[in-house]
Amino acid sequence: MQDFIDQAIKNGVTLLDKGRCQFCGAEYSRGIFECMEHYNNGLQLLDFNNSDQLISRFLSVDAHALQHPEIHGRWSNHFHLTRMNLILDKMQTWDYKKSPLLSDYLNAYKLNNPNEFLTIPNPYERGKTTANDLIKATTANECIELIKQWAEEVYHSWRSSHCIVSKISDGFLSDCTIGKTQGR
Ligand SMILES: [Zn+2]
Repeated sequence: MQDFIDQAIKNGVTLLDKGRCQFCGAEYSRGIFECMEHYNNGLQLLDFNNSDQLISRFLSVDAHALQHPEIHGRWSNHFHLTRMNLILDKMQTWDYKKSPLLSDYLNAYKLNNPNEFLTIPNPYERGKTTANDLIKATTANECIELIKQWAEEVYHSWRSSHCIVSKISDGFLSDCTIGKTQGR
């Protein structure tokens, strides 16, 4: 928990602990703090040993991060939006081994593009579905469907940056062999 508090301080953002989440707009009584709890507890129906369900984990991490960019470093936006582009638009499978490969690729990309910022959508305008909706799921399939909808809405809300991340993901796929060997 301390991580996101520290990052908010670094970003000059005051975290509010009352009412709805100041970032995604979900109705809570303890703001972002409750939003983080719902997010952490919302994936309990999923079995991460099942590769079809594992993809939902990555999409939920991306959706929550991009709904709450104020509690992450700015290059996190590049990482999460590029991964969404790879999974949702480029139909790539994903697993734990690929995330560090993408991080490495972005670390090199950063050096050549130090001043590139993605445009952050306004708070409350980053997708209607939120972590608060995950508690509605009673089966793994319902949870998967909710996460898919959540991810698509958040991804769409960042559409002004799709062009940038699409180019990054193309570079990533041509730079490493995973795009050549594993389509979906
Ligand atoms: Zn929230």
